[in-house]
Amino acid sequence: LDQMHAASVTDTLTGLPNRRHLEEHAPALWARSSRENLLLASLVIDLDHFKQVNDEHGHAAGDVLLRRVARALRATVRADDVVARTGGEEFVVLTLVSSPDPVLTLAERLRAAVRAVDTAAHPTVSIGIALSRGPAQDPIDATWRLIDRADVALYEAKRRGRDRSVLLDPS
Ligand code: GH3
Ligand code: MG
Ligand code: MG
Repeated sequence: LDQMHAASVTDTLTGLPNRRHLEEHAPALWARSSRENLLLASLVIDLDHFKQVNDEHGHAAGDVLLRRVARALRATVRADDVVARTGGEEFVVLTLVSSPDPVLTLAERLRAAVRAVDTAAHPTVSIGIALSRGPAQDPIDATWRLIDRADVALYEAKRRGRDRSVLLDPS
């Protein structure tokens, strides 16, 4: 049963948690945010022009790149941060911070880590960031609302030319 559960919450391509697993992590994150007075940050990370990678080098090469990016993201964050694959070429990092500054630093480190996975193709990502604070009445709903806000920032990062991070103004 444990193995079945593990399979159902794991993305098969990258081995990262999937959307379901992200939801399972949510309550503890909101609880810690509230208890330790920390901000919960959501970073939505989307590969830039990834369709071109598939078109120019094939879908299998695209898959290899996705796996490498997943590993690079995972290796860049802290052990208790959540890194999930939420869509095709889209990842989410959830992390607890005391102020907005460390999140921007983390976003720059994540962008550098992605660039380093293939020094020839130099893949880039755009990152949208949103912050919130616990407690959350419905942690799963609150998590997706936080991710939706980070998505708005991601859209802005794409609009400004990609290969950058944008932090959404607090609402
Ligand atoms: P943008 O900079 O605007 O994000 O451009 P993009 O090309 O990255 O975005 P778009 O949404 O147009 O294309 C995403 C591409 O990601 C299209 C799809 O074929 C590819 N993709 C999604 N999932 C996978 C996957 O599991 N493996 C591979 N190889 N490609 C995937
Ligand atoms: Mg993309
Ligand atoms: Mg995308």
